Amino acid sequence: CGVFGVYAPGENVAKLTYFGLYALQHRGQESAGIATFDGDTVHLHKEMGLVSQVFNETILNKLPGYLAVGHTRYSTTGSSRVVNAQPAVIDTRLGKLALAHNGNLVNTAALREELLYQHKLVTTTDSEVIAFAIAEEVDAGKEWLDGAISAFRRCQGAFSLVIGTPVGMMGVRDPNGIRPLVIGTLDSDPQRYVLASETCGLDIIGASYLRDVEPGEVVLINETGLSSFQWSQQPQRKLCIFEMIYFARPDSVMNAESLYSYRMRIGRTLAKESYVDADIVIGVPDSGIPAAIGFSQESGITYAEGLIKNRYVGRTFIQPTQTMRESGLRMKLNPLKDVLEGKRVIIVDDSIVRGTTSRKLVKTLRDAGAIEVHMRVSSPPVTHPCFYGIDTDTQDQLIAATKSVDEIAKLLEVDSLAYLSQAGMLQATQQDTNNFCSACFNGDYPISIPEQVKRSKLI
Ligand code: 5GP
Ligand code: SF4
Ligand code: MG
Repeated sequence: CGVFGVYAPGENVAKLTYFGLYALQHRGQESAGIATFDGDTVHLHKEMGLVSQVFNETILNKLPGYLAVGHTRYSTTGSSRVVNAQPAVIDTRLGKLALAHNGNLVNTAALREELLYQHKLVTTTDSEVIAFAIAEEVDAGKEWLDGAISAFRRCQGAFSLVIGTPVGMMGVRDPNGIRPLVIGTLDSDPQRYVLASETCGLDIIGASYLRDVEPGEVVLINETGLSSFQWSQQPQRKLCIFEMIYFARPDSVMNAESLYSYRMRIGRTLAKESYVDADIVIGVPDSGIPAAIGFSQESGITYAEGLIKNRYVGRTFIQPTQTMRESGLRMKLNPLKDVLEGKRVIIVDDSIVRGTTSRKLVKTLRDAGAIEVHMRVSSPPVTHPCFYGIDTDTQDQLIAATKSVDEIAKLLEVDSLAYLSQAGMLQATQQDTNNFCSACFNGDYPISIPEQVKRSKLI
């Protein structure tokens, strides 16, 4: 999911949030929503669909206020229905609360059970559980910040939150900082703050990057500025490496460089690790392209565009069924015969999850006249499901969970197949390699997962 927030009295906060969400659209395409605080009133609009489908000028004009919270949703917990759209807006003793969540809790069931406000839940999402946990603490007599912190301490899993309250806006990350969240300031007024899942959400509205919300930190933003509180005793950085490889936008900055640069670098590493002679290197648009360019630069093999993407088709993995997924791919990528005919082709993609995309692509390339197809993947084999907010499916659906690289190569009908090594992936971050979650590649989950939750996804 994508989360966004802005505290800026005197600005059109709904419009700023609209554009912020527009830049974060890739993080969730199922539903979109904006809540604005306007004195004691909260205005809310949320609907199924893309940001541009959900909002127009007329609707945005009905969302006045000085503070806004926005969300684009991609479901990992709870079904794809409008009630599950966010922000979640609920009543408390101290007024309304609006919450936008990116991530996934692993103790939702237990938290639900112990929630006094269980009967008030109207959705099936973990995000609403967090909202009611805060409401419960506040209603029991705590002030906003204390109440929220008590609720965060009850949550296990991944959560980057933007929360609107009558006393200001909060930005929070779980103690491992699994999902990103950044702070920016409006260039027009550096006392006005913005929160966004990624820096591309700041760029679009001309805001400047200030810093990340740190793992285990909550920031409170209001008329007195920004104050910070460390609410977790044991923060330990474990940023999702998949954000860097695939999920986040290439123009977003993490660890002081664009993800485009990181993705080029893993392409170079991949070329060092698994060079093969060929005539051209192509990338699978859009996510495989930076790594393909890196592969080409390192190997000296010419980079070319071999597949053209229809820009207006969403990510194939958003489609809920296998059949839709397969037809979705046909709609999405068209081969360039003139480029591919008679060539030995290296095709680079960022990941193989189920293998559906790759199998079809290889066939597409051969039909277009490629005489050899070598597949290179700029991440290691995905062997484990994610419990922290990326929809990598159940383990039995992951092709690398049960098959060796050779078996996968046969299934995909490629002339050769190689994946990036785990060490290559982590070293290319140029950061402490302990600072990342890479559980979907090695099963080493940094936040322990309750047995019955594990059983729901593991073979
Ligand atoms: P698959 O191997 O499942 O057919 O799809 C792999 C392609 O989907 C890659 O091109 C990759 O860009 C994209 N992808 C990346 N992350 C995910 C994910 O979390 N889930 C799924 N299903 N696809 C993803
Ligand atoms: Fe990211 Fe994989 Fe960890 Fe999930 S399991 S948070 S996708 S690295
Ligand atoms: Mg892709």
